[in-house]
Amino acid sequence: MGKPCAAFLCLHPRKEDPLQCLFEWRMDVWTSDQHLSKRREYKKIRFLGAARTVTGSCFVLEMNGHRFAVDCGMHQGNNEIDKRNWDTTLYEPETLEFILVTHAHIDHSGLLPRLVQHGFKGPIFTTPPTRDLLHIMLRDSAHIQEMESSWKTRKKLRRGDKGPEPLYSMKDVEKTLPLIKGIGYGTDFHPCDGLTVHFRDAGHILGAAMVELQHEENSRPVTTLFSGDLGRPSQLIIKDPSIVEQADYLFLESTYGNRDHKNEKESLDELAEALAYSYGKGEKVIIPAFAVERTQEMIYCLHLLSREGRLPADMPIYVDSPLAIQATRIFRQYVDYFDEEAKAILGRGDDPLALPQLSFTLSTQDSMAINEATGPAVIISASGMANAGRIKHHLKHNLWRKGASIVFVGFQAQGTTGRRLVDGADKVRLFNEDVSVEAKIFTINGFSAHAGQSQILDWLGHFQSPGMRVFLVHGEHEGQKVLAEQIEQRFGYDVSIPDYLEEITLVPGKEALSLPHPEKTTPTIDWDYLLGGLEDRLVRLRERQDQIKAKSWLDQTDLRDRLLEAERQLAALVSEL
Ligand SMILES: [Zn+2]
Ligand SMILES: [Zn+2]
Repeated sequence: MGKPCAAFLCLHPRKEDPLQCLFEWRMDVWTSDQHLSKRREYKKIRFLGAARTVTGSCFVLEMNGHRFAVDCGMHQGNNEIDKRNWDTTLYEPETLEFILVTHAHIDHSGLLPRLVQHGFKGPIFTTPPTRDLLHIMLRDSAHIQEMESSWKTRKKLRRGDKGPEPLYSMKDVEKTLPLIKGIGYGTDFHPCDGLTVHFRDAGHILGAAMVELQHEENSRPVTTLFSGDLGRPSQLIIKDPSIVEQADYLFLESTYGNRDHKNEKESLDELAEALAYSYGKGEKVIIPAFAVERTQEMIYCLHLLSREGRLPADMPIYVDSPLAIQATRIFRQYVDYFDEEAKAILGRGDDPLALPQLSFTLSTQDSMAINEATGPAVIISASGMANAGRIKHHLKHNLWRKGASIVFVGFQAQGTTGRRLVDGADKVRLFNEDVSVEAKIFTINGFSAHAGQSQILDWLGHFQSPGMRVFLVHGEHEGQKVLAEQIEQRFGYDVSIPDYLEEITLVPGKEALSLPHPEKTTPTIDWDYLLGGLEDRLVRLRERQDQIKAKSWLDQTDLRDRLLEAERQLAALVSEL
């Protein structure tokens, strides 16, 4: 194995000649021209996200000479994953004719303004509730991008460097919003020649859709279905996922491919346990939750506990998310999309989103005031994976406090702060500071907005398409392998698990051929090289011990502290393995 390729700061195994590597890379980027000529020859799909991971959903299709995308989500995770948001070239935004969006979650919609900034001008089709939710969510996302950029800019200016631009700004969002068109479930529409599109209820969040595409191939109709995020049956507020019986190609989400959820009752009990624990200690319960759907569901759960006398009446509840207030307003406009149970509750005049001790905080000052207030309280705030937004401040103020509870109620993607906490980290880094974890961590998965393994399999059981090809997306590879095996055994479908940037041709009756891509890197990291470099430095430090000893006592203590800091970071790293 070679050393990392110096030409791009990428992690390609190093070629003998870096220019050769540069040449291959450019060739690959330029193949977009070749793609244009090939576009009329076959139907293909490229996976630009949510491939062996759960974020960044984006599938680019080329079909009968047209090029379009299903979803355009933001990649979320560590710095390496975040880089994917910036490399817009791969999306070729100016040649995308239109985009179909399954639902409003940012990991399915958050890159739309970035693509508009880079030349996308076509329509964006989605359901009416998703359109309205996108108006508030994309503005919120731009706000977060601008805040993070100004924070980094200040830091860089202090060092005399120029600050980074935000990924996109409010101006980009304002250009994006008029492009979004709302089309209800069950209505056929034709975004280009020879293609019929149809949204079905995915039962995941308000307005979430499965996207069904129909076109003809050799005078035979071909159906391609994207499940989007598939909801959990009996979820609160919204309807169950639609039953589908026919498809030639199914792109199926697999977030919980290897797990089932606990039931709702057990989950409510766990939530009550967290409340009792922190209330008894006079501390706070922090619930990281997406502002849309999950926050409303958590309020509803607290409402249920309150009716059962399991929520202390003097325990204030704060929903610290301006977005959640707006989202709740949109929920109320789309009562038709609710399930019968939720409609009945509203029909009785009962408002599950209005507990007496519940307050919404709009301003940053109000948000900060919550942390200054002592005594028990419940704080629900975004983001759900604790990697952005106000929740980071609440974690910083409470993680180190014995008696506090952090309650995770949604999926935590690899690389996020939420995932580290769920995995048992004893310290996490927030705002460039190590924060010790003394709070009790609860992971409650019974409120999930995703189908668990058995529920995915049950949903698949309705299909009557013996030759259907299944592609697992939106899941982590380990879980996907388990689900693939289950599907093959139980239904005999051919299942593939595409990788990031992979391309697959879709021609009925023929093998779906996966095209190799030179820039397709689930990068190989040369650990020997990295560790060897560290060892070299230690040897050199040891050789210079005499020089260190000759320094003043004050300089030596400074060096000692810096070495101790490096040693502490290494120890933390080793302890995570
Ligand atoms: Zn989702
Ligand atoms: Zn998703």
